[in-house]
Amino acid sequence: MPLSATLQFIGAAQQVTGSCYLIKLNNKQILLDCGMVQGADQIREWHKFRFSFKPKDIDLVILSHAHIDHSGLLPLLVARGFDGKILCTPGTAELLPVLLKDSVHLYLKDLEWQNKKAARAGKKLQEPVLSVTDAERVVHLCEPVAYKKRVIPLPGLELEFADAGHILGSAIVQLWLKGSQAMRKLVFSGDLGNPATVLMHDPTDIGQADIVLMESTYGNRNHQNMDSSLDEFADALQQANKDGGNVFIPAFALGRSQEILYYIALLHHQGRLKQRMVFLDSPMAISITNIYNDFLYCLDQKDLAAIGFKKGMQLQDLLPMLRLTESVEESMAINRVSGGAIIIAGSGMCNGGRIVHHFKHSLWKSSNHLIFVGFQAYGTLGRRLVEGERRVKLFGQDIMVKAKVHTIGGFSAHAGQSELLDWAQGIGGKPAFYLVHGEPEAQQALQQELIELGIQAQIPAKDDVIEL
Ligand SMILES: [Zn+2]
Ligand SMILES: [Zn+2]
Repeated sequence: MPLSATLQFIGAAQQVTGSCYLIKLNNKQILLDCGMVQGADQIREWHKFRFSFKPKDIDLVILSHAHIDHSGLLPLLVARGFDGKILCTPGTAELLPVLLKDSVHLYLKDLEWQNKKAARAGKKLQEPVLSVTDAERVVHLCEPVAYKKRVIPLPGLELEFADAGHILGSAIVQLWLKGSQAMRKLVFSGDLGNPATVLMHDPTDIGQADIVLMESTYGNRNHQNMDSSLDEFADALQQANKDGGNVFIPAFALGRSQEILYYIALLHHQGRLKQRMVFLDSPMAISITNIYNDFLYCLDQKDLAAIGFKKGMQLQDLLPMLRLTESVEESMAINRVSGGAIIIAGSGMCNGGRIVHHFKHSLWKSSNHLIFVGFQAYGTLGRRLVEGERRVKLFGQDIMVKAKVHTIGGFSAHAGQSELLDWAQGIGGKPAFYLVHGEPEAQQALQQELIELGIQAQIPAKDDVIEL
């Protein structure tokens, strides 16, 4: 019997979020990732959502990493009947409960608020489509598989994870699909790290492959050099110190918050940090930093040594002025700090979370500084501030923006164009490339560059099916 296998591009086809691919192999169905489309209204999105397959017919899920755009629909998959194993790395298995429970909590809180409004208007209330129990069941179904360990989860299928260097636990998924006469190797890049990103290793070079699904988020551009980004960051902090103001850094809880803590610790270690108080003001980022502490042995030891790390230490030991503010009361007390503090809080694009409360108290003071260290999507408060809006409405109040706004471009956890090309060129066996997880513009630019290197790459559309 020859190999009978197909792959369908369910999500993150010609877009960045919603990573999901369905493999059919000898009557078994396997999902690679089950991610959420981000940026949309979550309640509306989940309430009308239909999987294009039957969740109870899925035999196995393989998860590349914990980011919500790769994992966020797992609670819904379970709520609709999936009951198989979810294979992921040990790091992902630790991070997943924190992320999924937060995402489900937010959804339930928003729904409660919408229902209150609907009740007052005499409109119909909406039942939740999932519960916290579904997120907990996802966690129970997870089976950790370490990097470089070959397993056989189903007859005719072998799996090995390799470090993708993107965030803690992120993996490149390598699959060997076997018929009685044929064997094909499929590689799914997941999100590939930026080799310059601190704490993470470089993405693993994959020896050989027959088919490669490669992410293409930054397929059309290269990142600014990391050293000059760090200098820009240091300059902004110094300017704030001279002005006697506070510094606010909106950051995602997973990955970016730990990176920023690292850079501040590095500046402290180099004697370049003047501020005497640093607040990590996010319960989720605090939990995640603690998980990073449990996995320090898996991270880049050269980076750790550069900030004076010694065995037995935790990340927060390297920054004696760091305070972890878990409770709302502690967070509110930060607003009374009159100058000289650095505050890291979510959400990363300022469309909610503690950072918006801090903005209400601080945007109108010219001595304060905002430092944006990540991509700000169109329509978010973060984007409007980056674009120089001078007046914003927060909690129903008009606020003048007098604080200084800095944008640092080089801190990205994704490979830029040249790193993507290097990684692709390192794969032997002349595989067929399929570009995923990117906007069409980025994908077309990357496809062009690949063709010039003699590598054929296709840009599949949503729901396209290929033979493996
Ligand atoms: Zn990611
Ligand atoms: Zn992603």
